Amino acid sequence: MSVNYELASKKIIDLANEIIGQYHPRLKNERIAYVIKYGAWTKNGKDVLGNAHKCSEKEMLLTGYTFIITLAGVLLMLPENVIRAVIDHELSHCGVEKNEDGQTKRYIIAHDLEDFAQVIKRYGLYNEDVKYFIQQIKQISIFDDEMSLKVVK
Ligand SMILES: [Zn+2]
Repeated sequence: MSVNYELASKKIIDLANEIIGQYHPRLKNERIAYVIKYGAWTKNGKDVLGNAHKCSEKEMLLTGYTFIITLAGVLLMLPENVIRAVIDHELSHCGVEKNEDGQTKRYIIAHDLEDFAQVIKRYGLYNEDVKYFIQQIKQISIFDDEMSLKVVK
């Protein structure tokens, strides 16, 4: 199956800008390209819905973009809250900060947690990343209808 790319629609860009305004103000002045990837996209045997890429100095010079967020074409057929979650996830990877010299440093932020559910089930909160992640999850009530909907869909 062939893979091809197209630029994201205005709807996706508007959604991303809304999410940046709400949760990622550090990215307000970044030039982020949004691209849709059609065709098979898997990594380690799992379907991929999105990816964040920090542009190299050369890519920045040539394109004017600082980050590229690629979204899977199949994502566009899913409910809007899933699209939002994936865009929010990819924006969460985009790190920007100014150092003491006023130079902007851009980088990819790692996930809060890289682990296996079965290991956490066997050993519990065995490190700080797991503790942080579980603390955040505990704040989601399964009795909160709006959040359950977000979790289920
Ligand atoms: Zn990720």
